[in-house]
Amino acid sequence: MADLSLFSNEQIAALLAALPDPAFILTRSGRYAAVFGGTDSRYYHDGSGLVGKSICDVLNPEKAAWFETQIAIALASHGLHVVEYPLAREDIKGLGGDGPAEVIWFEGRVQPLDYQVLDEEAVLWVASNITASKKLETLLRTQSETDSLTGLFNRRKLMSGLTEHFELFARYKTPTSVLIFDIDKFKGINDEYGHLAGDKAIATTADVCRRELRATDFPARLGGDEFVVLMPHTDGEQAMPIAERLRHRIAEALQKLGTLGPGATISGGLSEMTAGDLSYEEVLKRADDALYRAKRDGRNRIIRH
Ligand code: GH3
Ligand code: MG
Repeated sequence: MADLSLFSNEQIAALLAALPDPAFILTRSGRYAAVFGGTDSRYYHDGSGLVGKSICDVLNPEKAAWFETQIAIALASHGLHVVEYPLAREDIKGLGGDGPAEVIWFEGRVQPLDYQVLDEEAVLWVASNITASKKLETLLRTQSETDSLTGLFNRRKLMSGLTEHFELFARYKTPTSVLIFDIDKFKGINDEYGHLAGDKAIATTADVCRRELRATDFPARLGGDEFVVLMPHTDGEQAMPIAERLRHRIAEALQKLGTLGPGATISGGLSEMTAGDLSYEEVLKRADDALYRAKRDGRNRIIRH
């Protein structure tokens, strides 16, 4: 603890004013009792105008309610409460079209005070701008979930999507289908037209998936020339025409490419989650078995297990 007798009141006031991160004294009811610091002008608007106002004068109702809840949590915990939150132009009242276009992310460290301010319990709320690290975090997460050649979800993200949708199925019995498909004779395509033409065929196949599927469908590249489409809220009956449409559209697109001679086709296996399944692996295995049969039966077809 510092020996405050070394400093005059003016010096202490100047020290508080010099804090780079803004520090708000907020009462339980959401009044701004004081604002210190916030000198880091790269990040912050001047907060001094907030004193005397309430959170609900400054923020829109939903955001204001969130702040009040966090203050209550910090007070109830009697200890430091750390939160992350975005602030967007539309969260702040009276800005109209002004204010930063980008969402700004903050980390708030909320510490209850052991004395009352304006006859109320109060907290010290220190806000740091974490937008840059949040952006990096988002970028890294997206990269770790994305297949770089196609931009589709990768195997890792597919497996977490399957886990999540299997749990939803187990709980709510929402019908969910899974299609595995694979480009026919792809090794021959690579050999005959080159690896780059092969890559282009894989990317084109992904483009067709993006174009033809619903926003709630979940297309992923499993690896090589193999893809999986997870179709939530879709039973096998409904999924079959979707899979057939994909098969036709992909063949058309690969032929139109013009770099693969006569083009290429796909084969697919389709299955749906059933009450007896213990995990998504069983569903995937049935789809894979059906794909194997589609290959054996002459390719360019979808077989439903
Ligand atoms: P099938 O009809 O039975 O599927 O025969 P296939 O030749 O397509 O056999 P398979 O699916 O096993 O072969 C996939 C080939 O895809 C093997 C590999 O050389 C090639 N491959 C895997 N990843 C890539 C890639 O990223 N780019 C390209 N161009 N080729 C790839
Ligand atoms: Mg293949």
